[in-house]
Amino acid sequence: MTMDRYGRLIDYLRVSVTDRCNLRCIYCMPEEGVQLCSHDEILRYEEIVAVVRAAAELGISKIRLTGGEPLVRLGIVDLVRELAAVPGIEDLAMTTNGTLLARYAADLAEAGLRRVNISLDTLQPARFRAITRRGDLRDTLAGIDAANSAGLTPVKINTVVMRGVNDDEVVSLASKTVTDGWNLRFIEWMPVGGDALVHDDWRERVVTAAEIRVRVEAELGPLVPARDLVGAGPARTFRLADAGTAAGTLGFISAISEHFCDSCNRLRLTANGKLRPCLLSDYEIDLLDALRGSPETGKLQDLIRQAIQAKPQGHRLARGQRAQARVMAQIGG
Ligand code: SAM
Ligand code: SF4
Repeated sequence: MTMDRYGRLIDYLRVSVTDRCNLRCIYCMPEEGVQLCSHDEILRYEEIVAVVRAAAELGISKIRLTGGEPLVRLGIVDLVRELAAVPGIEDLAMTTNGTLLARYAADLAEAGLRRVNISLDTLQPARFRAITRRGDLRDTLAGIDAANSAGLTPVKINTVVMRGVNDDEVVSLASKTVTDGWNLRFIEWMPVGGDALVHDDWRERVVTAAEIRVRVEAELGPLVPARDLVGAGPARTFRLADAGTAAGTLGFISAISEHFCDSCNRLRLTANGKLRPCLLSDYEIDLLDALRGSPETGKLQDLIRQAIQAKPQGHRLARGQRAQARVMAQIGG
């Protein structure tokens, strides 16, 4: 296992397989004029596998595929199959908007994907269309069903909460843990990149985990700590005390109000081959040169170690610094 300068064990790599997406969520991508990487700049599948192999030898055991939307990249099931076979990789998961899951869930499970997180910010069809700018709520709901049927479990639903956009739905969304057994996590909106919602007053947009909790408990009763689900990561996980044992869990991911940098265990690989030590800092290490030509595992591992040692102790949002060079779809969330 590799430890960073602050004693954190780094065992998790998030891999953005594409910067393309079939949606244009208001907090993630601009509506028009998205700067996409050219085909040549995007890592080929064999290059992603080479990075994962090199990283696995350094103690990375968990991989999450993300994007952009990972399911829009052709051949994604083949990539899953190859990554699942890399020695040392114990957990292979994906974050997706779910719109294409009804088509792919069974094949992904068969290829070795363990589980999925599905992003869903509203239960209202018109609002879903407005937030994603082009999606259809029914597709994502069908994706959730397909993931459960295929055994990509526990399925976790990720909800970004934005004041004035969908914060009036936190109670109805939380109720889904009881009525439908959902495992839902509320994510504080983060001011990253050229996001349509980022203005000087971005702090007003953030609905903190504490505020959401108060609203949920006022309507649905107390939340009690629940055993963390597989891969709970930075989420703090609860259950509604009055719900039966079949109920799902409710988590909070609060990068802004109570950041969890002390236990950060991850690196990010962007679709164009940059290792990013911290989501909220623009510092990156380029792997593309080392990958093109005849890639050497030793050279890749030197760069991966360099990225691990470059992890900052914590992010600096509180001091007004934020990452601006990329939109979230390029980093992978
Ligand atoms: N397309 C996939 C999806 O939407 O799940 C994977 C990529 S997306 C960038 C990964 C996660 O980042 C999603 O759960 C999304 O809601 C979240 N995300 C994007 N922009 C965000 C922001 N500004 N603040 C908080 N979360 C954000
Ligand atoms: Fe696409 Fe996911 Fe970003 Fe929405 S959050 S625009 S689905 S990458």
